[in-house]
Amino acid sequence: MMAPSDRVSDRPKASLSLDLDNQWSYMKTHGDEGWQSFPSYLDFVVPRILELLDRHKLRITFFIVGQDAALEKNRAALRMIAAAGHEIANHSFHHDPWLHLYSREQVAAEIAAAEAAIVAATGITPTGFRGPGFSISRTVLETLKARGYQYDASTFPTFLGPLARAYYFFHANFSKEEREKRAALYGTLSDGLRSLKPYEWRLENGALLELPVTTMPVLRAPFHLSYIMYLAGYSRPVARAYFKTALRLCRLRGIEPSLLLHPLDYLGGDDVDALRFFPGMGLAGRDKVAIADDLFADYVAHFDVLPMGEYAQALKAGRALPQRAAEFRHAAMAT
Ligand SMILES: [Zn+2]
Repeated sequence: MMAPSDRVSDRPKASLSLDLDNQWSYMKTHGDEGWQSFPSYLDFVVPRILELLDRHKLRITFFIVGQDAALEKNRAALRMIAAAGHEIANHSFHHDPWLHLYSREQVAAEIAAAEAAIVAATGITPTGFRGPGFSISRTVLETLKARGYQYDASTFPTFLGPLARAYYFFHANFSKEEREKRAALYGTLSDGLRSLKPYEWRLENGALLELPVTTMPVLRAPFHLSYIMYLAGYSRPVARAYFKTALRLCRLRGIEPSLLLHPLDYLGGDDVDALRFFPGMGLAGRDKVAIADDLFADYVAHFDVLPMGEYAQALKAGRALPQRAAEFRHAAMAT
């Protein structure tokens, strides 16, 4: 058995990350009562995820929500992640998918509060950030740059965002005001045109590396694990073939994929009754872990998989990256 450092290094690289969205944040986004007591599944899902990653000798990036790190009940689980050698990154404090509507002062407070709670819980200062619900703004990027962050990972170049939003509105009850707040949730159509390859945002205060969540080259359809699990609810062979096609297209087009995971990829409706409304929750937790085992085997068979921070460092040691203007349709609200 080779140690990870002995692996042949001419294979294409890839990165892997998990947004550690907790039970309460799904309930909050869905508009369900009871999220205010921050119900948590971290205690039992984190060991399950760590065991799965360990089986494939994977070290990845965990994007952690500050609110979870701030609560004593979650700290043992979060410390386990750090102790296993995974990268700890920032996924905001409140997990508000309308972070792009925040003022500069609100953004600064949000990111700093998450950072402080994460450091207190894990002893690690994050240098990577992903906005909740892929929310992004120039203000967020400039704040990250000012705080010394190495990369942002909040873009999701797909045309399916508006479709996902329509599905979500159809299955939830919101007032007009709540709908307006959620108007950019899951992105806009123009997001589908963004680059799949890493680049640098050109900002007032310098440049910041962007690592997009990879979608299927050409078609721009998602292939993060939650989407594959959703397909697997209909047909496991079709889901795996779809995943393999996406990886093959990445290799053909010279794209080093950044694959995204969520806790619900390893939890079934049998594990968390309150989240049965969510797509893909018809599968049992045990079946999802078996599916993930297959997909991880496919991923490590073709790529040298790194946590995002290490992938960012490898990129910085290489060729200069293209730069892009940080222009977004949703400007921050005035204070
Ligand atoms: Zn999230």
